[in-house]
Amino acid sequence: MQNSQLREADRQKTEFLAVLAHELRGPLAPIRNAVQLLQLRGDDAEAVETASRILDRQVSQMVRLVEDLLAVSRMGRNQVDLRLVHVELAPMIHQAVETVRPLAEVMDQDLTVTLPAEPIYLRADPARVTQIVSNLLANACKFSDKGSPIVLVLERVGEEAIVRVRDHGIGIAKDRLARIFDVFFQVDTSLERSTGGLGIGLTLVRGLVEMHGGMVEAHSEGIGHGSEFVVRLPILGQRPKLPRQRSGGRMRPRRVLIVDDNRDSASSLAKLLRITGHETHTAFDGLEALEVAANVQPDAVLLDIGLPRLNGYEVCRRMRAEPWGETLLIVALSGLGQDEDPERTTHAGFSGHLVKPVHYDALIALLATSHVRRGATTAKR
Ligand code: ADP
Repeated sequence: MQNSQLREADRQKTEFLAVLAHELRGPLAPIRNAVQLLQLRGDDAEAVETASRILDRQVSQMVRLVEDLLAVSRMGRNQVDLRLVHVELAPMIHQAVETVRPLAEVMDQDLTVTLPAEPIYLRADPARVTQIVSNLLANACKFSDKGSPIVLVLERVGEEAIVRVRDHGIGIAKDRLARIFDVFFQVDTSLERSTGGLGIGLTLVRGLVEMHGGMVEAHSEGIGHGSEFVVRLPILGQRPKLPRQRSGGRMRPRRVLIVDDNRDSASSLAKLLRITGHETHTAFDGLEALEVAANVQPDAVLLDIGLPRLNGYEVCRRMRAEPWGETLLIVALSGLGQDEDPERTTHAGFSGHLVKPVHYDALIALLATSHVRRGATTAKR
């Protein structure tokens, strides 16, 4: 690389950090307000409802931001693992629309979705496809005026699924079109611009689309003429065999040990599990985890990786060596941005792996696979 290119890259990185700090600070004020509201009016149902809606929205936005950031950095190191499954495309589109709806509502924009009559099946990573579409939709909202309509059309052409996201917003100058997929590239980089964003969304979109064997293009007739993004993904010809649904009904209570040095994280997860009828124990470092596990003999352990005194890999390895640990369900919980290593988790003997903040449904689904050691557990608090 030439000196001037290095300087440009360095400038972009510095600017990126400023934008990142700005974006991360955004949700903090409403979160603090919501907490204050709960402290002052925690006994008022309406205040609790308002606060929880704010917290939900702001935390989701922050999670999306961090997930994008993480995915882009992993992509730069070729470390994105796709979890490919045979799935229908439409539900992923709906999921993306729901993610972006709060933004469209604030902007008073109508979001119209047109789907084909016949379902389209792909071999894809549902979370990633949702991320692709929600990024395009969020951009369409951000770079359009209030009240401007956004249209998404899904169609099948030959062996391809085509997703078009069209807006009537600020458009993109012809000479910029080629660069907008570059990392950190933003047409307007002033911090005061109201749109928000890190300049990584489209880089991520292109990377994820290509990993799915597809391609993405941007079209615009120029400034003021709106934009259209077109994603093409290869499809599967026929309907895949669906896995048999697990029979419904309530899950039997499990005895769960939660290990996390962030006490708030451990105790809030414990509370959530207790509300749904499970018995919980907590430990805050690696050695304590081994002690508590030997005492209570849990059905499942939710184990943070970065722990004081003994890290999660080692805790897992030692638990597996115990007679009570052989068939134990041990789930690794790693933080976003933590450099977790899937190979190392498997090698240490983990049964599964979840990234924090954990989706409650995913956790319950994993817990349901654990063996219950005894009859009904007694609910110890
Ligand atoms: P971000 O949205 O965080 O700025 P992206 O990588 O998603 O970053 O987009 C890069 C740039 O491409 C944006 O900053 C914007 O200048 C331009 N862009 C993306 N989508 C649109 C759109 N729908 N209309 C106009 N410009 C867009």
